[in-house]
Amino acid sequence: MTRVPLIAGNWKMNGLAADGVALAAGVAARLKSAPDLKAEVLVCPPFTLIAAVAAAVGGSGLAVGGQDCHAKVSGAHTGDISPAMLKDAGASYVILGHSERRTDHGETDAGVKAKAEAAHAAGLKAIVCIGETLAQRDAGQTLEVNRSQLRGSLPAGADAGNTVIAYEPVWAIGTGRVATPEQAQEVHAAIRAELALLVGAGQAEGMRILYGGSMKPDNAAQLIALPDVDGGLIGGASLKVDDFWAVAKSCG
Ligand code: PEP
Repeated sequence: MTRVPLIAGNWKMNGLAADGVALAAGVAARLKSAPDLKAEVLVCPPFTLIAAVAAAVGGSGLAVGGQDCHAKVSGAHTGDISPAMLKDAGASYVILGHSERRTDHGETDAGVKAKAEAAHAAGLKAIVCIGETLAQRDAGQTLEVNRSQLRGSLPAGADAGNTVIAYEPVWAIGTGRVATPEQAQEVHAAIRAELALLVGAGQAEGMRILYGGSMKPDNAAQLIALPDVDGGLIGGASLKVDDFWAVAKSCG
């Protein structure tokens, strides 16, 4: 099964209407003029900008996603957003279980799994994030931590079409410290092997596993070329059109 790389920008809590729409429109314009790009490209703005960004990039092929959603369809959950609301605003993806949400909001594997199942039910593709801390890596627990988070967070019914895994070593997010190709490939291969046990070898072979953590124009090509790295989840470098586009172009 051929895996089309996914280049996903996680804007985090950045962007007001004018600059956010301009950023997305800039990426969309590049995408429109590059019909041969060998990647799918996605931007995940804050909730407030999803509808405006989706309207601005319509017809360009640039996908739009959310950064989180609630596991419930509707109800008394002040401040939360349901998967159907994301879809209604123009999103087709949602990032779930990012380490910043696990840390800042106490999100658990079981909670991430429930959100991903709700996202699927609403017709969204889920990008499920996992990754070890530096202390866990230093303790030699990297592979087991990632396998365990994957087992706990993977939604029932996950397949290559509705789910993407993002391996994001916590020590590499926003730090400028990127995993070496050897470190990234080791974990990605272990994730794919675990996926084969969980969803079957065929779906595991087709499921995209993104690398995230200080991916930038100067290191993206080397990481994306690895056999089990199928694109990137990009934070800081997704906030500038030139940098994000340079990462996307690394896919060929
Ligand atoms: C992220 O937040 O998902 C991320 C990978 O951030 P950065 O690229 O800034 O390290």
